[in-house]
Amino acid sequence: MAEIFENVSLRNLNTFGIESRARRFTRPKTKDELIAMLQQNPAAGLEKRVLGGGSNILITGDVDALVIRYDDVSMDVVRETDEHVWLRVGGGHNWHDLVVRCIETGLAGIENLSLIPGNVGAAPIQNIGAYGVELAEVFDSLEAVELSGGEVHAFSSEECGFGYRDSIFKNREKGRYLITDVVLRLNRKPDFRLDYGDIRSTLDAMGVEKLTIGAVSEAVCRIRRSKLPDPARLGNAGSYFKNPVITEKEFEKLRGKYPVMPGYPSGAGKVKIPAGWLIEKAGWKGRRIGETGTHEKQALVIVNYGMATGQEILDYSAGIAAEVESKFGITLTPEVNIW
Ligand SMILES: Cc1cc2nc3c(=O)[nH]c(=O)nc-3n(C[C@H](O)[C@H](O)[C@H](O)COP(=O)(O)OP(=O)(O)OC[C@H]3O[C@@H](n4cnc5c(N)ncnc54)[C@H](O)[C@@H]3O)c2cc1C
Repeated sequence: MAEIFENVSLRNLNTFGIESRARRFTRPKTKDELIAMLQQNPAAGLEKRVLGGGSNILITGDVDALVIRYDDVSMDVVRETDEHVWLRVGGGHNWHDLVVRCIETGLAGIENLSLIPGNVGAAPIQNIGAYGVELAEVFDSLEAVELSGGEVHAFSSEECGFGYRDSIFKNREKGRYLITDVVLRLNRKPDFRLDYGDIRSTLDAMGVEKLTIGAVSEAVCRIRRSKLPDPARLGNAGSYFKNPVITEKEFEKLRGKYPVMPGYPSGAGKVKIPAGWLIEKAGWKGRRIGETGTHEKQALVIVNYGMATGQEILDYSAGIAAEVESKFGITLTPEVNIW
């Protein structure tokens, strides 16, 4: 059975680099180990929290719970056809490592999701997305273990209720399961998505003559490295807020006042507004208060300059949201999970 440790520092286990202590901490490596641990004392009766790579959480104090970091990094092919390969991946597998392995073996579909930090088990939680692609497009199914009793459940794509940075695991079923395995349906033949952001111009600058999934991945990595702060140097959790979605009517009204406000169609009668633009126009881009601030190149990223507490970052984010609300009448919702 997986060993349970006491009073463990989480500082190196969250990309904000926030100091916090978990009352109990454990790292099961297999589903059997996880289930055995959940069904026995001293796990019984304690609140449980699941931690992946810690790249999408803000910890606001010590965690009076059993923190479980699932370490299964296994990977196997479960089915193959002429067009597709179904790959089952353990929840503890690093996401970018999976992307690299798929590229090496010629499996397409997740190259635009290169360099997203974190583990495979967390990818369905907010239906990770970047550069015009979302996990849901290659997702087949997942298995999850119920934290309260160790029962195993399978979920299809429909049952996961994927949306923009959303799934049932982020709202209705929040905190109920640990996702142990994800099955992806990858493509043998690439369907290149190059129209988002600077992908085409970066491929041109790289002098790419023959388009490959490896080249697309490299372009995405270059763009991300130039735009986003590296958490190893400057603590952050990527985009702090989701891009708000408003009605076309509200958008037209705001456009009357702010003619250059950007907006992108987002389903019937809805428009998605870049939260970074709103934050910048509200005067928060590059602003610093004490040990926390918004990144100078990307207003949507809140950073820890070194010694910020989770509460300070939470207060800072509340300041941003209040000013965006009062200037534009738009409510910002955190993408980051608050612990
Ligand atoms: C620099 C940077 C850039 C980023 N860019 C992107 C991006 O382009 N697109 C994007 O979508 N996200 C992005 N993110 C956010 C983050 O990388 C993803 O959300 C990622 O999937 C989080 O994985 P994690 O393992 O670190 O999860 P954690 O941060 O450890 O956990 C996030 C949430 O999921 C829960 N959880 C974690 N693992 C499991 C599991 N196995 N079962 C059940 N619940 C679990 C946790 O309890 C928590 O609530 C970025 C983050 C950073 C720091």
